[in-house]
Amino acid sequence: MDLTADYETVPMLIGGKWISKTDGSFGNVYNPSTGEIIARTPMGTALDLDQAVQAASAAFPAWSQLPAPKRADVLFRYRYLLEKEMEAIARLITIENGKTIEEARGDIRRGFEVVEFACGIAQLLKGENLSQLASQIDGITMREPLGVCAGISPFNFPAMVPMWMFPLAIACGNTFILKPSEKVPLTAVRLAEMFQEAGLPDGVFNIVHGGKEVVDAICTHPGISAISFVGSSHIAKYVYSLGTAHGKRVQAGGGAKNVQLVMPDADPESAIRAITGAAFGCAGQRCMAGSLLMGIGEIAVPLKERLSIVMNSLKMGDTSASDNIDMGPVIDDLAQNRILKCIDQAIEKGVGVVCDGRNNIPEKGFFVGPTLIEQVLPEMPVFQEEIFGPVLSMLSPKSLEEAIDWLNRLPFGNGATIYTTNGAAARQFSQGVKCGMIGVNVGVPAPMALFPFSGWNDSFYGDLHLQGTEGVMFFTRQKVVLSRWDNNYQRSQGW
Ligand code: NAD
Repeated sequence: MDLTADYETVPMLIGGKWISKTDGSFGNVYNPSTGEIIARTPMGTALDLDQAVQAASAAFPAWSQLPAPKRADVLFRYRYLLEKEMEAIARLITIENGKTIEEARGDIRRGFEVVEFACGIAQLLKGENLSQLASQIDGITMREPLGVCAGISPFNFPAMVPMWMFPLAIACGNTFILKPSEKVPLTAVRLAEMFQEAGLPDGVFNIVHGGKEVVDAICTHPGISAISFVGSSHIAKYVYSLGTAHGKRVQAGGGAKNVQLVMPDADPESAIRAITGAAFGCAGQRCMAGSLLMGIGEIAVPLKERLSIVMNSLKMGDTSASDNIDMGPVIDDLAQNRILKCIDQAIEKGVGVVCDGRNNIPEKGFFVGPTLIEQVLPEMPVFQEEIFGPVLSMLSPKSLEEAIDWLNRLPFGNGATIYTTNGAAARQFSQGVKCGMIGVNVGVPAPMALFPFSGWNDSFYGDLHLQGTEGVMFFTRQKVVLSRWDNNYQRSQGW
């Protein structure tokens, strides 16, 4: 790893100015399809973060006082610019993250939908009122912004996850500091440039790059009111504990292990299509990846056979060079080696291998082939732990009840899907499963911007989820105003 080479240094955005750091340490940004270094990320310091907090604090009074429809004007212009640039951003995502072009389009589109949602901020911020709550007393509620908010995002959705956070926070009247994943900082930079072009005042949106030092500074800085975090569970828990201990409001999405359960009466072709997309889309690097497969009864054997045929036909390759690729690489060599080791360890524990993704891996880039293992049991690490790669583990519960019992032993609680044509089975599953996002014949039941992203258990720490009206509640606090207008007194004054 040559950090002294002259790679493009990714700039930080502080108080409306783009700053290129020349000192300190740097991390590499790779094109995961080729393994080439394409840029370097400055690993910011607590001082960089403090400067961003000062800029965001200075911008807060004017931005928070701007009427909500005027703030929405900026978001409408941002929406327009994003729509024009969507394809270019998707291309950038294929280069720095390795997604296929279709997956990258989905990444930016899902973020775009949050901007559309945030355009309705004036309506979303409306409160409640009750006149004559008590004798001559009226009550109203109003929602006010918190101040300076911060977001810390993972590598796997370079556009969507930061956009779960900053458009809504800013629409609510807050100012914002984003610390994108150091592995994929380029998309975040482009998103911020476009927000500036849309007319966002200086200091309302800031970017500080880096790793643990910046994250710790965000969690402890007295000038920050709220933190949105998305990443792995142990860092989510850490950020939640440190941030709340320092008096901040924190919402922290973590990792997951999501089950796809196929009932004997399921429509096999549409189930296979959805399972393949859920397990191997984004090379399995989704917090909603359907990484556990349960076939009930006689459907298990044909399911496995049909799935392995589809898996063998998936075209893996360089997503930055071709649009005709079904599955791209994983993010870096660390992830690649970790995933390969997980497969080795599962085999040591006695699972069977149906499709072996360790074979025929291209020399360049960070690839792992689609992998299907069977005879997995609920007590195995491969069932309990997030692999975050294209590895699908198959289990064979005897009944729907046993499947729900196994599923509920997972420490996580993001998503679970049932494939069935039986409404009663779908209902039993939806009601019995202890996780926050349920799919009925939907492979990846990730809610769109109108709904909260509802992880449970170790998949989420906090009270109010990202997105939707819960997102608006998270980025504002409520005030209740009670007013007494005494008619008798006013009459006595002769008014
Ligand atoms: P990660 O936890 O390694 O990193 C997330 C963020 O935390 C990054 O910005 C990183 O710089 C920072 N970070 C990393 N190590 C840190 C440390 N020791 N101290 C402080 N900060 C640290 O996650 P990742 O590998 O970038 O992303 C993949 C993970 O994110 C998976 O577990 C996936 O399931 C999860 N994820 C969850 C959701 C959700 O909504 N629940 C969505 C997307 C991804």
